[in-house]
Amino acid sequence: MEVHLLGTAAAAGWPNPWCRCASCTWMRGHNDVRGQTSALIDGTLLLDCGPEAPRAAERQGRGLAEVRHLLFTHAHPDHTGAAALMWRGWVHTDSALDVAGPPAVIEECRRWVAPDAPINWRVLHAGEAIELGGYQVRALAAAHGDDSIGPALLYDISGPDDTRILWATDTAPLPAQTLDAADGAAYDVVFLEQTNGDDLDTGTDHLDLQSWPLQVAELRRRNAVTGATRLVPIHLGHGNPPPPQLQLRMSGWGAHLPHDGERIQIGASRGEQVRPPRRILVTGGARSGKSRWAESLVADQPDVLYIATARPRPDDEEWQQRVELHRGRRPSAWRTSETQDVAKAMTDEPAVLVDCATLWLADALEGPEVERRIDELVEAVAQHVGTLVIVTNEVGSGVVPATASGREFRDALGELNARLARVCDEVWLVTAGIPTRLA
Ligand SMILES: [Zn+2]
Ligand SMILES: [Zn+2]
Repeated sequence: MEVHLLGTAAAAGWPNPWCRCASCTWMRGHNDVRGQTSALIDGTLLLDCGPEAPRAAERQGRGLAEVRHLLFTHAHPDHTGAAALMWRGWVHTDSALDVAGPPAVIEECRRWVAPDAPINWRVLHAGEAIELGGYQVRALAAAHGDDSIGPALLYDISGPDDTRILWATDTAPLPAQTLDAADGAAYDVVFLEQTNGDDLDTGTDHLDLQSWPLQVAELRRRNAVTGATRLVPIHLGHGNPPPPQLQLRMSGWGAHLPHDGERIQIGASRGEQVRPPRRILVTGGARSGKSRWAESLVADQPDVLYIATARPRPDDEEWQQRVELHRGRRPSAWRTSETQDVAKAMTDEPAVLVDCATLWLADALEGPEVERRIDELVEAVAQHVGTLVIVTNEVGSGVVPATASGREFRDALGELNARLARVCDEVWLVTAGIPTRLA
């Protein structure tokens, strides 16, 4: 199967022509102008056809003359530009066209064509399956739509070559019935909408950079997404940072950010692991966003163990509030272990987040056998199989501590960080909320 992405943006496009935000300004400055999301499969099956799709197809070197099947997700105007069917009526063509989609789409499309046009109308509801010229199509429920257009649909599509994709736009977190239907699907590619970026809780029936990895984690839990599934975000809006930063932030989840006009070949690299497990050190100053970044790096994992190294301080109210703040931010499915025996706790765990090495060291320095415990931790990190993220602090850049014990701690942490960095596959520095990969 080849999926040619005619557009990768949400309704307003990216940049939004009316907007001067930093994201839109960057896109404009780099001439990265993205149109409404739509895809052409093997040149014959068109997935959504908003008003921009026909021109995008022409600009990207192929028209729509070979299209035999038109599959619509919903009747929002960025997905259903039914006038394109009228233009088809102006061309002499005897070949039949399947037009499939939810009732509101079919109703809208019928208004634009002659009653005797060679079109097979196929009304679809969630849970129904049809065959379109060798493609097996299952309609799944979306969490999207309204009274005027009815519920939107998502599609589970198997090609004649047995490759299988999930086309999931537009939708908020997937409804339970859709997750059940995707159980064990082991898709080759999942196209999953990510409209809102860092604009959280907009209440617009879309996903954002926080809900997207959690959705992936749920799909991994159900084996709908495996280690070999390619993840492609689509339907992108200006709530997202510019593409280089967005790709950086999504690559930890094994996602590939596409560009408009990209042709994705499916099947050729089948079975290849998209993103191998790895050991990651995240460093940064206080309130730099390092914990948030570390949490994000494992957010797509189905089973995460969070190791909190802070000793409880029942008498310190401000400290308790900090701990609560962190706890409230973590997905409820994560397990938590409050322990100083980090080396033991992380053994055999597929995905671990340790927050943080700084407090762990402060605690270790108060007890006996410090050297042995440090060696043990570094060795455990070096031997770990799975995804491991360790948070630490960057403390050497400020003023020299006034006390001898302060200087001793600063030096010991600097040495520990260097040793951990040496046995990790990736090292990140977070400054002002922006992650930079150091190694
Ligand atoms: Zn849309
Ligand atoms: Zn929509």
